[in-house]
Amino acid sequence: LFITVEGPDGAGKSTLIQGLKERLEARTAREVILTREPGGSPLAEVIREVLLDNRYGEMDGRTEALLMAASRRQHIVDTILPALEAGKIVLSDRYVDSSLAYQGAGRELGIEAVRTINAFAIEEVVPTVTILLDVDAQTGLARIHDKQSGRAVDRLEQEDISFHNRVRSGYQTLREDEPDRFIYVDATCEPATVLEESWKLLNKYLDK
Ligand code: C5P
Repeated sequence: LFITVEGPDGAGKSTLIQGLKERLEARTAREVILTREPGGSPLAEVIREVLLDNRYGEMDGRTEALLMAASRRQHIVDTILPALEAGKIVLSDRYVDSSLAYQGAGRELGIEAVRTINAFAIEEVVPTVTILLDVDAQTGLARIHDKQSGRAVDRLEQEDISFHNRVRSGYQTLREDEPDRFIYVDATCEPATVLEESWKLLNKYLDK
């Protein structure tokens, strides 16, 4: 069982994931591996560092998309597949849909172009179910700015509101294209409500 959590910045993915882990372990008695992208394995985390570092000047959008896909490939090989093969549940904070939404829609490289390079990276490793936390760009950005005080802003956090609006609508397109894989949750609610709603909708996928 491979579960991914997606959504714009400030949607509350990491809070939800912590809550889901406890419930999943209690309900299934299986080990749950928490992981994230970009990153999720030692080598993939090094690629994350490169992606987030703003000391080297501007990174080309296609370079960014390729590095995201490269990092994902390594994450799959090092972390995701071994866990799935051992019968564990994998719960990932972001996966391929982030690339489609951020690089495809946000950076305007095109969802289909980004899907093509990711097909090479992921082969057949697709999530069983994807929870999409939906939040408008203004609310999401306000949340990360509150959390951020004192911390240096990374390269990928420097985008304007129109970029974040494109990311959000990119996610909507993905959800409309694959309604069976996506669970949609309104993430402007309280964290406890987001957890309840996600858990309720996730249940029907748990026997897969
Ligand atoms: O989710 P997390 O905050 O760890 O992501 C790190 C940064 O990378 C965020 O600013 C996020 O918007 C960005 N990102 C991106 N493209 C992706 C995945 C994440 O720009 N495919």
